[in-house]
Amino acid sequence: VGEYAIERMLTKASFDEVELSPKIREANKKTFGRDMTAAELVRQIVGDVRREGDAAVIRYTSLIDRVDYKPEDFLVTEAEYEAAEKAADPAVVESLRKAAENVRRYHQEQKPNSWMTYREKGSILGQSIIPLDRVGIYVPGGTAAYPSSVIMNAVPASVAGVGEIIMMVPPKNGKINPYVLIAARAAGVKKIYKIGGAQAIAAMAFGTETIPRVDKITGPGNIFVTLAKKEVYGHVDIDMLAGPSEILIVADKTADPVYTAADMLSQAEHDPLASSIVITDDEELAGKVAREAEKQLAKLPRREIAQASIDRNGLIVVAEDMMQAMRFANVSAPEHMELLTEQPFQLLPYVRHAGAVFLGAYSPEPLGDYFAGPNHVLPTGGTARYYSVLNVETFMKRTSIISYTQPALSDVSEDIIRLAETEGLQAHANAIRIRREQK
Ligand code: NAD
Repeated sequence: VGEYAIERMLTKASFDEVELSPKIREANKKTFGRDMTAAELVRQIVGDVRREGDAAVIRYTSLIDRVDYKPEDFLVTEAEYEAAEKAADPAVVESLRKAAENVRRYHQEQKPNSWMTYREKGSILGQSIIPLDRVGIYVPGGTAAYPSSVIMNAVPASVAGVGEIIMMVPPKNGKINPYVLIAARAAGVKKIYKIGGAQAIAAMAFGTETIPRVDKITGPGNIFVTLAKKEVYGHVDIDMLAGPSEILIVADKTADPVYTAADMLSQAEHDPLASSIVITDDEELAGKVAREAEKQLAKLPRREIAQASIDRNGLIVVAEDMMQAMRFANVSAPEHMELLTEQPFQLLPYVRHAGAVFLGAYSPEPLGDYFAGPNHVLPTGGTARYYSVLNVETFMKRTSIISYTQPALSDVSEDIIRLAETEGLQAHANAIRIRREQK
């Protein structure tokens, strides 16, 4: 196929276009009594939670997650936390602690400083960096548990100095994975609610009788979570629209086909909508990776999900040369880009669009997912063209500082009055003129 056809294949559909599988749509029709797209259903859930508060959260948690709550059941209790500590394997807790430490160290480097600068005649300009008052973190938990996502959201928020961090995580039979609870506590999360999906996002965006309204919602999730974040954006801020995971591997003839296939599958197992792409200039490697991927896939416990994802979005592209490979890679703007080439740093200057780049055979994607320190909440669906990885500034905002002296203002009065009057804003001009005339 031609270059244009390949570029089309590498360009992701927007979230609005992602269709639910017929199976889920049929099940939803039974649950909700009518056929709806994911976007229609999310709009209904968000609207109901906004109007009815806790009552709607209870209703949708019962319908979708099959857990029957009273409002006092939303919050994880001290007893549940203690039970989690008892159930946890100390070796896992220790690995989580090390991972959190690496993430904290990395994110501390990102912390921006407030600044002030002196200008003409004693005037001062500057910028205050202020952490957000209250942030809500969504931690996915439908098909897998993600203690690593707790760390990746809560630690940067805590480094930023956010006043209060709350968290939502879907209940599985009313319970939460113990490591999710332990990671959250260790990272400074004050309140953990056992609520998932669009209803959790809406509850944080608008607040309910028992759940406080937040200023910003961060964290990844499935299609319902992501569409809900899109729906509430503007009432609160959001980090990004993080969708199904993606990996794009740029490989040359030196790449190990076994590593390459393993790395493809590491994302495919996340979600049937996840995507795994290899782009290489070596046809022989392409064939080997395809065969190896089939072999490894057959042995995976989550092979059903991985197979569905490979069938839908798995792709091995043979490019004419490495420059064309990089061009294709940038068109795709993947969440994770691996450079499995002889000299990966030589390709780095050609990376224009990627959430995170992993260089060389010993930097596989799960290293970044869990441990190295950089964040794993990354832009997906081609949004790496304009979104950045989650970072400390995600949890901070900037306020401008302006202080002029009388002589400094007097020097620029004419210009300001002229500009204000050009826009027909006499009161603006007056605020300047009145000070000049008092002199
Ligand atoms: P989830 O927590 O995102 O979703 C579970 C919730 O979705 C449930 O509580 C339920 O309320 C709602 N839901 C499920 N089925 C529904 C239906 N038919 N109708 C309405 N609502 C429904 O967990 P998940 O489903 O396991 O998805 C996790 C997603 O997060 C995956 O796509 C994974 O790839 C992604 N992820 C991304 C990152 C990242 O950093 N980008 C990290 C971890 C996970």
